[in-house]
Amino acid sequence: MQKITIETSITFDLPRRIKRLADFAYNLWWIWNPEAIRLFTMIDKALWEDVYHNPIVFLREVDRANLNAVVNNRFFLDVYDRVMRTFDQYMLGNHTWFNREYAPLEGQRIAYFSFEFGLHESIPVYAGGLGILSGDHLKEASDLGLPLVGVGFLYTQGYFSQKITEDGWQEARNQMLKLENLPVMPIKDESGRQLTISVDLTGRNVLARLWQIQVGRVPLIMLDTNVEENSLPDRSLTSRLYSNDLDLRISQEILLGIGGVRALRMLGIKPAAWHMNEGHSAFLTLERVREMMVDGKSFAEASEIVRKSSVFTTHTPVPAGNDEFALWLIDKYFPVYWQELGLDRDQFIDLARNKARWGGDSFSMPVLAMHLADYRNGVSELHGQVSRKMWHYLWPERNVEDVPISHVTNGIHTGTWLARRLRGLFDRYLASDWLERLDDPSVWDDIDKIPDGEFWLVRRHLKRKLMAYIMERSRRNWITTTIHPVQIIAGGSLLDPYALTIGFARRFATYKRANLILRDMDRILNLLNQPNHPVQIIFAGKAHPADEPGKLLIQEVYRAVKNAQNGGRLVFLEDYDMNIARYLVQGVDIWLNTPRRPNEASGTSGEKAAINGVLNFSVLDGWWREGFNGHNGWAIGDDTEFDDNEAQDAADATSLYDTLEKEIIPMYYDQRSADNLPVEWVARMKESIRTMMPQFSTRRMVKEYMTDLYLPAMKSADAAGIKSKKKG
Ligand SMILES: *Cc1c(COP(=O)(O)O)cnc(C)c1O
Repeated sequence: MQKITIETSITFDLPRRIKRLADFAYNLWWIWNPEAIRLFTMIDKALWEDVYHNPIVFLREVDRANLNAVVNNRFFLDVYDRVMRTFDQYMLGNHTWFNREYAPLEGQRIAYFSFEFGLHESIPVYAGGLGILSGDHLKEASDLGLPLVGVGFLYTQGYFSQKITEDGWQEARNQMLKLENLPVMPIKDESGRQLTISVDLTGRNVLARLWQIQVGRVPLIMLDTNVEENSLPDRSLTSRLYSNDLDLRISQEILLGIGGVRALRMLGIKPAAWHMNEGHSAFLTLERVREMMVDGKSFAEASEIVRKSSVFTTHTPVPAGNDEFALWLIDKYFPVYWQELGLDRDQFIDLARNKARWGGDSFSMPVLAMHLADYRNGVSELHGQVSRKMWHYLWPERNVEDVPISHVTNGIHTGTWLARRLRGLFDRYLASDWLERLDDPSVWDDIDKIPDGEFWLVRRHLKRKLMAYIMERSRRNWITTTIHPVQIIAGGSLLDPYALTIGFARRFATYKRANLILRDMDRILNLLNQPNHPVQIIFAGKAHPADEPGKLLIQEVYRAVKNAQNGGRLVFLEDYDMNIARYLVQGVDIWLNTPRRPNEASGTSGEKAAINGVLNFSVLDGWWREGFNGHNGWAIGDDTEFDDNEAQDAADATSLYDTLEKEIIPMYYDQRSADNLPVEWVARMKESIRTMMPQFSTRRMVKEYMTDLYLPAMKSADAAGIKSKKKG
């Protein structure tokens, strides 16, 4: 195998004493370590905000004077030395959960394929929930010491940024990302050329470059096709996420699945287990079969091995999230390939045949994945049930409860989403190793040791911080653009840092019903404007650029937001991303989620809110159906599912208004102690943290993936003799 180097192209001009700050330019570990972030803010807080928390741009632009100042600052140097020690120990990775539990598996690798990875706001190559889950999965795999390698795309234009026009219409803006500003490292060969792989797309040999992002201990391999050898259209094959052009989409999926396997091979990586996070990458199974057939195995033998070593996670029951392709696209791209697999057209299509949404047959990516992966799961208990029902026809001989799809409920990466101030409280009052043992429920029984007053002060601080951030954004908008003043108010400039604040932020898809709380305008306006009990609601979220109903939903919400009668208490924040998400899930009082059950397979934003003591107020769907215990938030509606959407919406809206009016608002404003603490509210917040912190963390989730799915897959790979060589 050739020698491979991974190089950063940039060196920074830093004082020797603190030159290792550059380590954080190309390793994302700092993202979930607030002490490391503090190093940047201590050097120049304003610049850190200006460069959108991007260490590469920060280190390039920072004033030498600021650097010289901290080199003489004893306190800074103490933090610096401590952070570097922690980082070095972490990277050694000698005492991880994986080492302890699975030492015999050392040297084996797990490949994790996903269409998008949401790691940080400064790397905008993600669209939403699926991407952030993938990013959180990598971070947790790093923390636990799993020998995982991610595979995905470096979208050269990233996801769009969102502007809302005065009449509430979403405008999408795309821009070329400046790759030199991203923590991506070209993977090079001995002669210093960046490695490329190629795939055949109907006679076009399309090349993709290889990049690496280092996520703590875990490498993420990324592909992009913007290389000179490719034709102009092929150069932009990986420029954007989730195109509606199915020809482009299948080309991307061929590149991810087939090209992704080739990329790993080029790097000498032989994973023992292969995880397809959603069906987009399912072509990887075919490429693995093809490889083994080149080595002399039959299709039957090879596909058996692939099945036993593959894991597939389905993420949504919503049709638009389950990719399927018209057969003419298969005829266009696969005639050579199916011959290489020793199959004819029908046999090939049978691998993924599905009843198309548009009638007739289609080639379905989840079906392909389910046929070629023995380990399959949904992302919550209810979603497991729904998936077994939905895919029952693939196993007609079985009872629905025996359909072989299990579930692993989604979690969130605690270090990424937990407010620094709350970490501080936990450090002071909980067991010193709480972060190490955060999935152990007994750790959280100590939450009551935190004095209510101190806890409440932190919560108030986080809300003020959110408001200050929103005001500052408004001010900037007002200065730098020519938008109508009503849009400044719509953006939150009249928010009240002391009012009960509800957050609703997620993708604007119609089943998520962002407008449910606006269904009875008179009733909600009345609740918002009670003189001593004001309520305010902050909305944020993007609609897919091709989703007209989603954009109309934004427009409907925006119309309500602009209505002067709401007193500035309805707000829409433009351009939702991980940065805004962090402010919201840490800063509001209530996290609202109103999906039409059972369409929210899991949801994760409410989990981010819950661990920060923000109370969930949600439909009993996805994760919340498992998390809600009667005392740690509120439910909207009950387990009833209606056949009639209108009836369900009406019932859910009534439940929502009643609970808000009779329980939530009085508990926040009226049930106060002599020193003005909302005692019941604080008890609920603590209950939220106590019950949900251990359960809805990726710590629990990735451990489950390891023991229930990766481990059996790795063992069967072992049996089949495809174990990779010991490292080193
Ligand atoms: C967590 C998160 C999501 C997912 O939100 P859901 O409510 O679970 O759909 C989407 N976008 C961003 C930016 C997030 O941080």
